[in-house]
Amino acid sequence: MEFAESKSEARNLIARARADGKTVGFVPTMGALHKGHTSLIEASSSEFSYTVVSIFVNPTQFGPDEDLGRYPRDLKRDLRIAEGAGASLVFAPSVEDMYPPGFTTFVEVKALGDVLCGASRPGHFRGVTTVVAKLLNIVRPDALYLGRKDAQQAIVLSRMVRDLDLDVKVRVMRTVREPDGVALSSRNEYLSAGQRACASRLFESLSKAGHLFEAGERDVRRIVAAVRVILDGEPQIDVEYLEARDAESLAELLRVENRTLLALAARIGDTRLIDNIILDPGAGSFEA
Ligand code: AMP
Repeated sequence: MEFAESKSEARNLIARARADGKTVGFVPTMGALHKGHTSLIEASSSEFSYTVVSIFVNPTQFGPDEDLGRYPRDLKRDLRIAEGAGASLVFAPSVEDMYPPGFTTFVEVKALGDVLCGASRPGHFRGVTTVVAKLLNIVRPDALYLGRKDAQQAIVLSRMVRDLDLDVKVRVMRTVREPDGVALSSRNEYLSAGQRACASRLFESLSKAGHLFEAGERDVRRIVAAVRVILDGEPQIDVEYLEARDAESLAELLRVENRTLLALAARIGDTRLIDNIILDPGAGSFEA
């Protein structure tokens, strides 16, 4: 596996791979790699002959009171995990290389980035779209791999790719979960044992609503209420939002008629966790 710590090294190594006839898949991450990330790396390396994994804790997507300073970082461990999953190149640039003095250009997907997580994290998606646009220009991959765990991020980035005519396929892969349903997340490391046990209520409540949907319920208010009743019974869980929206436009809904995102964000202690399921009326089932 190759390693690049600057944009120019990454461009050179990828150009060499292209010259050798390789096809390129790309997995952007913030490191602290886990099985959610490796599922994306494995999917990319099964489809493309050269998989680039970026590791960059992007400061522009963190708010001033967020966890940028304490975000887990362990490059040596990440390199081992990325290599084990089939990565060809890890690109881990510095903040100075990505945002040199005078940097002042941003990419913003209006409206889609202002609801759900965007409402409580102003500027978050502008930071995400800007860094991913930059990374796509550096890596120039055939496909971009994203996780459904961050559903709104995948929706916002898919819209950016469409609106800016970026020549890249977007592959959104299903959420990898622990046996008790908790979605793998680097932020799970912040939880105490008691909080970690409590975190399983998030997916449990979404699944309950999913089963209600599978039994034929299409009324959004009743589906959301089924989640709410479980979460409100758990004093350690502080719900930030719990909403059902169209899975492509993020429009608000009264009934589930098209693919619908049922998404939540909640705090357990100081840790903010997100999770979601997709209600698919075509299939009559939900995707976890
Ligand atoms: P992050 O390092 O948190 O920025 O995540 C990098 C990529 O991994 C994003 O596309 C995430 O959606 C994806 N990802 C994170 N956690 C999971 C998970 N549990 N299952 C699937 N994909 C995930």
